[in-house]
Amino acid sequence: MLSFNALIVVALLYVALLFAVAFWADSRAERGRLGWLRSPLVYTLSLSIYCTAWTFYGAVGNATRSGLEYVTIYLGPTLVLIGWWALLRRLVRIGRTQRITSIADMISSRYGKSNLLGIIVTVLAVVGTTPYIALQLQSVTLSFAVFSPAAAGEGADGLSSIAFWVAVGLVVFTIMFGTRNLDVNERHYGVVTAIALEAIVKLAALIAVGLFVVFAVADGPVDVLERIEASPIADWDLQPDRWATLIFLSAAAFICLPRMFQVIVVENSDERHLATASWAFPLYLFMISLFVLPIAVVGLATLPADANPDLFVLTLPIAFDQSALSMLAFLGGFSSATSMVIVAAIALSTMVSNHIVMPIWLNARKGGATVSGDVRDTVILARRLSIAGVLALGYLYFRLSGGGTALASMGLIAFIGLAQVLPALLGGIFWRGATRVGAAVGLLVGFAVWGWTSFLPSFGDSAIMTASVFSEGPFGIGLLRPTALFGIEGMDPLVHSVFWSMLLNSGAFVLFSLLSFPTPIERIEGATFVNVFRYSESAPGWTGGAAEAEDLLIMAQRIVGPTEAQTLFEAEARLQGNAGYLPEVTPDFLQRLERELAGSVGAATAHAMIAQITGGVSVSVEDLMKVADEAQQILEYSNQLEAKSVELGRTARQLKEANDKLMALSVQKDGFLSQISHELRTPMTSIRSFSEILMGGERMSAEDRQRYSSIIHDEAIRLTRLLDDLLDLSVLENGQVTLNMRHDTVRAVLDRAVAATERPHKAGGIVIHRTPGDEDAPLYTDSDRLAQVFINLIANAEKYCEADAPALTIEVKTVAGRTVVDFTDNGRGIPREAREMIFEKFSRVSDHRAAGGAGLGLAICREIMARLGGTIAYLPGQGGASFRVTLPEAVARAAE
Ligand code: ADP
Repeated sequence: MLSFNALIVVALLYVALLFAVAFWADSRAERGRLGWLRSPLVYTLSLSIYCTAWTFYGAVGNATRSGLEYVTIYLGPTLVLIGWWALLRRLVRIGRTQRITSIADMISSRYGKSNLLGIIVTVLAVVGTTPYIALQLQSVTLSFAVFSPAAAGEGADGLSSIAFWVAVGLVVFTIMFGTRNLDVNERHYGVVTAIALEAIVKLAALIAVGLFVVFAVADGPVDVLERIEASPIADWDLQPDRWATLIFLSAAAFICLPRMFQVIVVENSDERHLATASWAFPLYLFMISLFVLPIAVVGLATLPADANPDLFVLTLPIAFDQSALSMLAFLGGFSSATSMVIVAAIALSTMVSNHIVMPIWLNARKGGATVSGDVRDTVILARRLSIAGVLALGYLYFRLSGGGTALASMGLIAFIGLAQVLPALLGGIFWRGATRVGAAVGLLVGFAVWGWTSFLPSFGDSAIMTASVFSEGPFGIGLLRPTALFGIEGMDPLVHSVFWSMLLNSGAFVLFSLLSFPTPIERIEGATFVNVFRYSESAPGWTGGAAEAEDLLIMAQRIVGPTEAQTLFEAEARLQGNAGYLPEVTPDFLQRLERELAGSVGAATAHAMIAQITGGVSVSVEDLMKVADEAQQILEYSNQLEAKSVELGRTARQLKEANDKLMALSVQKDGFLSQISHELRTPMTSIRSFSEILMGGERMSAEDRQRYSSIIHDEAIRLTRLLDDLLDLSVLENGQVTLNMRHDTVRAVLDRAVAATERPHKAGGIVIHRTPGDEDAPLYTDSDRLAQVFINLIANAEKYCEADAPALTIEVKTVAGRTVVDFTDNGRGIPREAREMIFEKFSRVSDHRAAGGAGLGLAICREIMARLGGTIAYLPGQGGASFRVTLPEAVARAAE
């Protein structure tokens, strides 16, 4: 038999392989080479986390006890996939358009972004999933123990240390690959790929053991069938009520389990994958269940009577001394357990951090989102802590329950608990009248009934509930007996619990929905969810208004990261036809922004954060009347009208802005003409007068002569520079420049620019910080011209930054595939209304007049960048003045 140490080595190697696969897939995805990572097959295989260790090992055990009943666990999902995949498609579509991050987020979003509902579902999920995680840890420890009777002999301590290290390993894996990025739209390719691999391993393991049993132990299929016929399993009768209940339950669990929601909806990258999954996954389930009966029957016949049927998959190959096969079976069970725990931990941690930790954190810091501090780091930290917390809970549960048989029944009990979400979920996406109050009451009622009739009794009649509670009810109230609610006796306990919890849950949900009046947001969200295919895009929600785009940008930068936020805002601005990085704050934009943020912090929190900035009003009286109007046509018509009038308003505003700009420019130009004649005349006058003095032949000292000539010299230089600038600009504008293209790197060009502007500290020089980042990016451009732009920006920072300790940060990075160079100083920045203007010829911000310069520098920069195929723009929201130079793209490529 395989030694215990060899087993540990193989298990560690397998884990290393999983890390490598996940790492490889993640880095591939990062480089944008998705390829088959997003194939429907990988998606289908990832669904297999439905089959946990409980199914891998337990199905055989179940078959020895209850015959064909184990099939129901596979029938439920099969029915959903084949018969009702339109439902899944609807969920996936809603998930994508609303950027849903978890099942708690789905329920919370649908019912007016109510965080209370988010919390209820999260708590329910944690309570329902913890024992399930404990069950997986138990199965791994048990399977280790099979190989090492000695370790088992050491008792629970030896075993639980295995469980402990497995849990630690899972925490590390999940944190490494599950919290790499915040945005749910960037999926966890590493995790999903590793899980797909595990799916193949567990299927291969079961089939291999099955084939071995059928062809090597028994004499082929016919013999197996005869053995089944002769075994006690054949005496099993179908109990229709249990059968139907179990199918319903597994179907509900397939949709409602947090981890299933994670793989089906959140990790889905393409709606069409569902079409493949709808036949391929039932096929997978069929293959995985194919050999369950043969293994059970042969196990019963050949293994000693006291052997645990739950481990036949593993003990059979061992009994026949098949080391390789038993190893494979072990890895199959290990895969089933670990993949479930990883995805469950990701799903739960998202829910816990978005619905519990983040709201508390936001509340604790009253100023909310706009205060300093990086929300993004907090979210990631909250997720990591939640992952560790979830696994710690599972481990504790495993320790406290003593890893005993109580755990084995946990699988179905967890299913019943999580199925309580079903009425609120289905009601939410099919019934516009469903309300938050209804959903909350239904969930709480279902949760309570489940706890009373399944969860608490599962600890046995001497643990939490005493035997007398079972026989006479609490305080002697017979109607409340946990297994005979309302005096209905004789039902199977499972059927009893499902029946009452679902009935009372749905009843309360419908009743309270009818009795309560939905808030406007609920009405809007209700309509969007129910009609998701008609209105895949936006529904009215925000009324635009009071928010400054810059405040929103500052908040968004903290949540999704500066680069992503800037790209988003810039894209929106371009869509609206504005230059620069700040779009108009329109309702549409707010909606999109909210959805974007929802991907990182959950819908309810995103909504609250935007509401904080826009002043808390998200729906006006007008909207209220609009949604009160049930007639869809009128609604749509008025929507269109409103959109048109908003559009008109915006166009008018843009026109006015353009007009203002023209006026200001023309004033500036007049100013410039008098200025330039003044600037030309001043040096001219002094040149003339000093040269007259020199020519006059008067007696003067050598120093005076020297001084007069150097004044003439300096003034001449100033004149030349002014004329040079004017000339340069006119050449650039007329497009008569010849570019001197050559290969170079950003670093070299920057080095030259910095050297050219270097002045000693004392002489007012600015401190320059370089953040090297992507400075090695290759260039193929006119680097002298580019250096001219850099020099101008550095010189401007030197001239205009009024900070006590002036500093300039130069950062080179890649944004949306293009190399950009950001010049950010720590001065007062440039007022919003002047940010566009400074790029125009002759324009200066008034109080800077003293610093000299004719206001041509930035205009020249813009012309140069346009000639080179890049851009330069003012970057708002950075504290001081900040300019972003986007380097030419195609040119950079050509150099590769
Ligand atoms: P100039 O030739 O006058 O420096 P520019 O076109 O380079 O003209 O700049 C236009 C105006 O923009 C300047 O007059 C100044 O008011 C403002 N400006 C440019 N850079 C900065 C900066 N780093 N900090 C503050 N203001 C700046």
